[in-house]
This record gives sequence, structure tokens and C-alpha cells, in this order.
Amino acid sequence: MSEVHLHPVMPEIEAKAHANNDTYREMYQQSVVNPEGFWRENGQIVDWIKPFTKVKNTSFDTGHVDIRWFEDGTLNVSANCIDRHLEAKGDQVALIWEGDDPNDDKTLTYKELHTEVCKFANALKGQGVRKGDVVCLYMPMVMEAAIAMLACTRIGAVHTIVFGGFSPEALAGRIVDSNAKVVVTADEGVRGGRAVPLKQNVDAALANPSVTSVEKVVVYQRTGNNVEWNSCRDVWWHEATAVVSDNCEPEEMNAEDPLFILYTSGSTGTPKGVLHTTGGYLVYATMTFKYVFDYQEGEVFWCTADVGWITGHSYLIYGPLANGAKTILFEGVPNYPSTARMSEVVDKHQVNILYTAPTAIRALMAKGNEAVEGTKRDSLRIMGSVGEPINPEAWEWYYKTIGDSKCPIVDTWWQTETGGILITPLPGATALKPGSATRPFFGVQPALVDNMGNIIEGATEGNLVMLDSWPGQMRTVNGDHERFEQTYFSTFKGMYFTGDGARRDEDGYYWITGRVDDVLNVSGHRMGTAEIESALVAFDKIAEAAIVGVPHDIKGQAIYAYITLNSGEVPSAELTKEVKDWVRKEIGPIATPDFIHWTDALPKTRSGKIMRRILRKIATGDTGSLGDTSTLADPSVVDKLIAEKSSVV
Ligand code: ATP
Ligand code: MG
Repeated sequence: MSEVHLHPVMPEIEAKAHANNDTYREMYQQSVVNPEGFWRENGQIVDWIKPFTKVKNTSFDTGHVDIRWFEDGTLNVSANCIDRHLEAKGDQVALIWEGDDPNDDKTLTYKELHTEVCKFANALKGQGVRKGDVVCLYMPMVMEAAIAMLACTRIGAVHTIVFGGFSPEALAGRIVDSNAKVVVTADEGVRGGRAVPLKQNVDAALANPSVTSVEKVVVYQRTGNNVEWNSCRDVWWHEATAVVSDNCEPEEMNAEDPLFILYTSGSTGTPKGVLHTTGGYLVYATMTFKYVFDYQEGEVFWCTADVGWITGHSYLIYGPLANGAKTILFEGVPNYPSTARMSEVVDKHQVNILYTAPTAIRALMAKGNEAVEGTKRDSLRIMGSVGEPINPEAWEWYYKTIGDSKCPIVDTWWQTETGGILITPLPGATALKPGSATRPFFGVQPALVDNMGNIIEGATEGNLVMLDSWPGQMRTVNGDHERFEQTYFSTFKGMYFTGDGARRDEDGYYWITGRVDDVLNVSGHRMGTAEIESALVAFDKIAEAAIVGVPHDIKGQAIYAYITLNSGEVPSAELTKEVKDWVRKEIGPIATPDFIHWTDALPKTRSGKIMRRILRKIATGDTGSLGDTSTLADPSVVDKLIAEKSSVV
């Protein structure tokens, strides 16, 4: 592996940070030696209606998995995200909306947000929604998406957000699984200059005979274009909110009452309906937001994720608002109308903290300096990454080109299931190594185990597990506790299995190597996909790469590499040789790709992650049964890859 470039903690960041390295170590130590005491104290980061007396009651024992935090306390999430800030900062901005069109934007203060949330909460009640009912949100990235989420939490309804890019079939499946009573949508969404027919998709989903639970559809008018209307079922947002009071008392919720259901991205198979509850989730989202992004009073935070993903839940809405932050909701995509859009938005709103994904970073990197043309980005202080392992090359580009070498990068490892960030640097505490998610957050006890489930110590590589619970942990798979136990607690007894592999170095830093299902075994050598992919991305002509294993008579597995070149580069026999030589030099002969498949686009989930399970099937010619493809962003990519395969040598 090429040499690790260490980035020490920056003194100016450390000076005012919520934690430096000593405080991190002290607090971490306390959090694992005495979790009860630690979380009793830090559970106060949110406001309780009735304070909890019990802190932690959790078991990872197969057959009896049961997770409860703060179980006798009561609280309300919207009151924590809005009401408690009204006195001190009612007139300060809470939400900044940046439209798909660079000329469109608006803001809501905490006071205005309070009014809008109360009104929509009352409107939902008017449509028959009661505490415990499920409301499905299928929304574009407009203010009303945030308002609808908070309104649900205000009245104790459980939201389940389905990303607006999903098809009617995928939407129908999630409505059936969650038993949603009301759907909230818009006439159309707008993204990258194109209209998305949301209402039409809802109509198609509800026409599916398996969908029987939905009574009402509330429609926000985004574009004003014509939509079909079912007057017994459909209600306009503006009409439903025009006739209600603008005050709604927050419902007193038990800490363990369900807060939301969210389906995982579907990278490894059929998505799981992850259920999160109220108290532990909010405490964990609030605390991680404060420390991981080192949020300072008055700063502007921008998370580019859609609210349809867990990142959009925890770090676009709940974490920031519970901390009284200013948070940006962006309707568009990072490269529309120009490659520099992300940087332009940073300048326009004077963003201090930017949180985005490797897929966006690699796409911008492929365009070089175009991504920052005409922009300053001098407001930026801290940057983050989430979703996939970030290749060191992409890390360094993000650091130098977007951040001008003055912003620490927090590479945050976590999952829909974990509710919040588990492994991450803290900006004022952790020396950074590009490509490493570094160290566990407070209360998080990661370990590496071998395939027999034995804990392995020191600098080593293995399956990443968690030995104990943290407050933000999912409680169950919606309606299927057995699947919950099977998926996460049966592989290694008494431990939460993440499904990911990791390496731990001599400093105790964690490096996520990829999904364990994707680990290669070449001539007896186990290799994660991340390492080879990073070596490929470090080659100056390569934009993106994905590695899968294919069966090989002698080696066990051979290495099959899908490669996308930077704009302007073309594949050739010479380049094939250059690329192979490069990997041989960077990692070693064992990692040299046996097959190179040049392509313009890789299959990705709608949240932007490479779907290696599909690539594996294409590489082995097993294209009859591709598995669940409903979460693919662009299904046509698959046919193209299958067609290209014949020319792979
Ligand atoms: P599914 O569980 O349905 O297959 P998914 O795992 O992609 O889909 P998410 O919960 O959105 O669904 O993603 C979590 C996964 O994303 C992690 O298990 C890990 O593989 C990957 N991941 C997230 N952040 C990072 C990171 N910073 N570094 C490396 N991998 C990451
Ligand atoms: Mg997963």
C-alpha cells in the first residue's frame, strides 16, 4: 500500500473545538468503562418532559435481542428541534432552502418553522392521523419535506421517507411494508433541471392492488403543472393548512416509542425496514452532530444528502436543528447547472461545514478544477464524507481543491441501522489519515473478529462488529424481529455484525475495506475491494473503479476491474497495460486485475453507492437472476455493461 500521508490536528481548529485529543480520550474511556454514568449525563443534551431514571437496558443475546435506552423518560422531537430554541433564537435562521435553479432560495427562522410545523401537524390530524400511525413522505427537497417530518414527530406519527427518485413499484412495496395511512407528496419535484412526476408515481403506486392502507394523499404544489386528482382521497397541502390553527401542542412521547421507519439503500440485497425510536436516536444524533462536525454557534451547515437517506434524517434535520443550527436543504444536484455548483452554493450561503459523499467527490474530481472555478470557498472550516470508503486520492483532492488545505475532513462510518455516526475523526482531536474513518465515537465499542467469531487484537484485519449497544441503534426490522436477529446478531453470537470488513492499524485507526461479502480471495490472499479500487483511482486517468472477484481454476478467484476514465480519456491496449503495471507497483502482483472492463457508468444505488453484487453477476455471466434491482439509480446501465462484457479481455 502506498504511504499514508498523516494530517495532524490543526491548532486553530483545536483551540475552540468541543473536544481535543485529551478530552476525547477521557470521555471515550468514561463512556466504555461506565456507559450508564456517561449516558445519564450526556442524555441531558436533549430536553425531557419527564426525566428518565433508567439509562440502558440492552441485550445482544441471540433469541433475546432487546434494546432500550432511557426507557422511562418522555420527550418530543419537534419540541427539541424547534420550541426549545424559540426564546434565545426565534428570529434566527433555522432552514435555508437552495432551489435547483440557482436564483431560487428562501429561509425559515425558528419562529416561522414553528408556525409551519404546527399548521401541518394540525392538518395531518385533520386527515385522521393519530399517534402511532405511519405517514409516508415521498417528497422533493423542499422546505415542506422538513416541515412534514417535524410535524409527524410533533403528533407522534411515525414517518417513513421514500426517496423521490424511487419508482412506483418501490414506493408501493415500502407503503405495504410500513402500512402507511397517509402519503405526503408534491405535484412534481425538480432536480437537475428536470421535472420528476411524484404525484403520478404515487397514483401508480396506489393503483397496485397490494396497497390497501392509504386513506389520504396530501399534495404540496411545487411546479403547478397539471396532475390527476382523486377528490375523495387527494388534498392540497395549501388547502389543508389554510383552515387550521398555527399552534399545536407537542405530544408527550415515550423514549422507546417509534420515531421513524427507513429502508436501507439496498446495496447488498432487499432493503430492510429499519425502525428507530425517539429518545436514544435523538440523543445520539444531537451529540454526534455537535462533536463530529464541531458545530459552533451561528455556523451554516450543509449536508448534501437527500432526506430520503439516513444521512438526511440525522444530519440534515434532527441533529442540526436539535443543536439550534442553521442547516441547508438543497433541491438540486452538485453538478447542475455547472460543475462548480457545489462550490457556488458554499460561497452564496457562506457554508462553514460541508458534508457530502465520495460518489459526488469522485464525479467532481473527474472534471478537475472546473469544480471550483470562479469560487472562493473561504467560509469552509470543516468537511465530511459518508456513504462509501473514500479513496485516499479523492480525499486529498477534496482536501486540497474544495477545502484549500485548511479544513479537516471527517470520514464518518455508519449505517442506516446505527442511526448516527459510529467511527469518525473529531476535528480538534484526531490526526487524519486519508481513507481511514479513524476512531470510535463515545460509547461505541468496535472490534474485529475472525470468521469463527473470535475477537482479534492489535493491528489486524477482520469482520467489523460492535460489542455493546449505543443509544442510536435500530430497535428492530419493522414487523420482523426475527429478521433483525438473523441479520445482525446470528453470524457472531452476542455481537452486532455490521456486514463490513475493516483493518485496524498500529495506531488503533479503523480502515473500512468494504462489505465482507465482497472480500476477494486470490491465491489464498484475502483482499478488500476498497484497497484495489483506491489504487486504481489514484491513477491519474481513472475517475472511478469497482472490483469484483470471478472464479478461477488455480487462484480461486481472479480480479475483475470495472473502470471509468476521466472525461477526455479513451481505453486502449496500452492503457490496459499501464493500469495493470500501476496496480502491481502500488499494491503488488497479487492485486493485478486479470480483466479490465472499460465503461462509462457503474451501477449505483439511488443513494450513489456502487452495487458490487450486480457487477459480480455480470462478471461471471450469471445475468439471469440479478436479485433486487429496484434500488438501482439507472437500470439501463446494467444492459450496457452486459453488452460491453463480450469485449472484455
Ligand atoms: P443495504 O444494507 O440495503 O445493503 P447499504 O448498506 O448501502 O444498503 P446504508 O445503510 O445506506 O445502506 O449504508 C451503510 C453502509 O455504507 C455501511 O455498512 C458501509 O458499507 C458504507 N459506508 C458508509 N459510510 C462509510 C464510510 N465513511 N467509509 C466506508 N464505508 C462506509
Ligand atoms: Mg447495509
